[in-house]
This record gives sequence, structure tokens and C-alpha cells, in this order.
Amino acid sequence: MVAIEMHFSWLAVNSILGCPNGCKYCLLQATGDNNCFPKQLIIPREAVEKLLKYKYYDEKIPLCLFPNADVFVNPKNTKCLLELLDELEKYNVKNDLIIITKCKIPENVIERAKQLKQIIKT
Ligand code: SF4
Repeated sequence: MVAIEMHFSWLAVNSILGCPNGCKYCLLQATGDNNCFPKQLIIPREAVEKLLKYKYYDEKIPLCLFPNADVFVNPKNTKCLLELLDELEKYNVKNDLIIITKCKIPENVIERAKQLKQIIKT
């Protein structure tokens, strides 16, 4: 599993792999990663450094954060997301962000996303 990948319509940041939800239609089913504990593959600072060095990086391409996991399935994943958002802000990365989830989005993440949007506008 590579940390940063170019997909059809976004750049994927694969900091975490695996999900315990076990959905039958999940793309992760092929490797059994749809029914396991999530593993952190790379710390947020390294993920951002790799992203910025990635050959297809462009500030106009949206970033999909953790498409090989569900980021809100447990507090550890959510903490990793919040740390990644801090790093993206620190490195002044202003790409649009995509997060795919089937779980409830915690209030603190919604607040953080709104705050980031404000920073991007100013
Ligand atoms: S919640 Fe998402 S990542 Fe998890 S098993 Fe279901 S489809 Fe896959």
C-alpha cells in the first residue's frame, strides 16, 4: 500500500488501512481489509511531506483523506485526521478535501473543518 496515490478524480492520502465495519460491497473486501482493525501506515507529518513531493501533486486536485478506512470508525482514526489537518495547515496546503464516511461525524471535526475553510478564504 502506497501512502499517496493518484486516483481518477483525486489524490488519495492513505495514512490508515482497514475498517472493522465489514460491508459486503466494500472495495477493501478483495484484501480482507474491510473486516479488521485499522492500522496507521504513516504519521501525518510524513504523509504531508510525501504528498508535497509526489509527482502528480497539484494544488488544484482535491485530496481524499484515508479512502482505505473509515476515519470516524474510532477515536484513534479521528485523532489521526485532526493531526493531519494540523499538518496541512502548517504546510499551507489549500487543496479541497474529501472525506468518505458511513459514521457520525464528530462535532469537533466539523468545527475544525469550518475553521480551516475560514483560513483558506482569508
Ligand atoms: S465502512 Fe466503508 S471502509 Fe468500512 S467496510 Fe464499509 S465501505 Fe468499507
